[in-house]
This record gives sequence, C-alpha cells and structure tokens, in this order.
Amino acid sequence: MESTGCGHLTARLPSPLEEVRDPRLHGVRLLLKREDLIHPEVPGNKWRKLHRNLVRAHEAGATTLLTFGGAYSNHIRAVAAAGRACGFATVGVIRGEEHRPLNPVLEYAAAQGMRLVHLDRATYRDKHTPGVIAGLRERFGDFHLLPEGGSNAEAVLGCVPVAAEIDTGFDVLCCACGTGGTLAGVAAGLGPGRRALGFSVLKGGGFLADEVRRLQREAGVSGGNWEIETGYHFGGYARCPDGLRAFIDDFRDRHGLEPERVYVAKMLAGIYDLAARGRLRPGTTVVALVTGPAEFRAQAPPVQPPRLE
Ligand SMILES: *Cc1c(COP(=O)(O)O)cnc(C)c1O
Repeated sequence: MESTGCGHLTARLPSPLEEVRDPRLHGVRLLLKREDLIHPEVPGNKWRKLHRNLVRAHEAGATTLLTFGGAYSNHIRAVAAAGRACGFATVGVIRGEEHRPLNPVLEYAAAQGMRLVHLDRATYRDKHTPGVIAGLRERFGDFHLLPEGGSNAEAVLGCVPVAAEIDTGFDVLCCACGTGGTLAGVAAGLGPGRRALGFSVLKGGGFLADEVRRLQREAGVSGGNWEIETGYHFGGYARCPDGLRAFIDDFRDRHGLEPERVYVAKMLAGIYDLAARGRLRPGTTVVALVTGPAEFRAQAPPVQPPRLE
C-alpha cells in the first residue's frame, strides 16, 4: 500500500500480474499488469498520474483543482473522484456545448461535487492560453491547474515506478497512448535491455513522439528505449468498429476480462497482430498495462467526509 498524502486515495500496489494463455499469441508470453485494480474510483494510470499532483496542490495551499477534458474523459472523472476524496473543490472545463441529461461520466463528476463549465470548441482550443486561464481565475478564484488529460511533470514521475514493480523478467512493456504521459513515465523507468511500446488510440498519432519527449524533458527524466505504434487507432479516438468489438467480446469470453474499449482493447489487438506478424517474436515476454477498467461503477459511492493529512 502506498500513501498519497490523502488517506482516501491509498492505492493497492504493486498491481497484480496475470498471464494470458492463448495460442493466437504465437509463442509470445503475455502478462497483464492489472492497473485497473489499484483504486476503485481513481484506477489505473489516472491514479499514477494524479497522486503526486494532489500532494503538490496540497503543499501549495490550493483548495481547488481545475482541469480540462472531453465529455467522456476518464481524466475528468478521476479528478472529480480524487478531488472529493482529498478535500479539494473541483472544476471541470468541458469541450463543446452542454447536453442534458448529462452523460454518465459528467453525471458522476457532478455527483462528486465537480463544477462543470462548457467551453465552445474555439475557446476550448485556446484553453491553455493566458487569456482563457485569466478568465477562468476571475470566475472560479485561485486554482491548481491540471492540463487536459492530466499529463505534466508530476504525472510522468508518477508513472516511472511501474516497471520496477514487475517482479518477473520481461522484454517489452506496452501501454495505450492518449496524451503520451503514461508512456513518457513508464519508459523512463525501464531497466536495461527492455523497451516500451506505446499504441496510439488517436488517428494521426505521429505528433505523440514529440509530446513524449517534451514531457520527459519537463519531468527531468531520461528517455529509455521506446517507440509508438500508430497503426492501431481503429478509426480514431473512441471509435470502436465491428472488428474491434469482436476482438473485445472474444477476449472477454476466452479470458474472463473485458478490455476497456477506448484504450486497452486497441493496445491488446495491436499486440495480437504484432505477434501474428512476427514483429513480436516467439519467446518474447510482453507486459501489457491494463490502464483502466471496462466499466466504472454506475453509482457514485456514498459521500465521505473530506480529510487532508
Ligand atoms: C487516460 C487513459 C489512457 C491514456 O493515458 P495517457 O497518459 O494520456 O497517454 C490510457 N488508458 C486508459 C484506460 C485511460 O483512461
């Protein structure tokens, strides 16, 4: 168990490893690192990326967290839950117009006490500019800002320990990439002789490599051996075509775990394909990060009294 400076956000670490036995892996040994199990409300890489930020915000005397995301953002959901658990007020700045009723992600966020504001897409594009930030400060007072997707130096540093938790030999560490913050951190924590492989879930993920390098520089960590596969986006962010749907159903039926479809399923489908094509060789041990659960709990948990330690 690891503490975070906030008693309600204790994570279950190290996350467990589970082997997937499947002849269609053509002799590649696949281990799932069940990051989805480390915290029920702030799971997977969201816990990894947030916990150091929460400590920093608290040390800086902040009482409010503000962040940005799309209407279905796991990051928005995680900040709402973490903020409530650790006694911060939260503001979620959402891309695009408001739709009522709120979707389950935003409804959950609102139930955690997050104030939701919607920005039209043009203003949202400029969200990190001083003008827009100043406007938000005028409206909401002082806040600790977390960038869209939560990727900053503290988030990268929070992901560095992942590889060292793996207590078995492995060759390749795989994760899905949205902003690339997770890859930036886990790659920096690899031991010698190992490499990390990111799978972009975005179409046109070519920009991601620069972003990973920028984040590593910002965090002051050295790179590690990593690359990004850009051919497994399945049509783009949040797209789930029939072929991917079939992969998810089949994986669930064979292995009893439904892969989360926006990120995790694309990475796993990519690993199977690389194994089939011999780009991952027989005998290679691959650890794949299950960075989030397929389904969050539909109901918000009962309100806990805020507590800072
Ligand atoms: C947010 C998220 C990611 C993306 O992580 P980045 O650090 O933005 O690349 C991957 N997997 C899951 C399940 C996520 O929720």
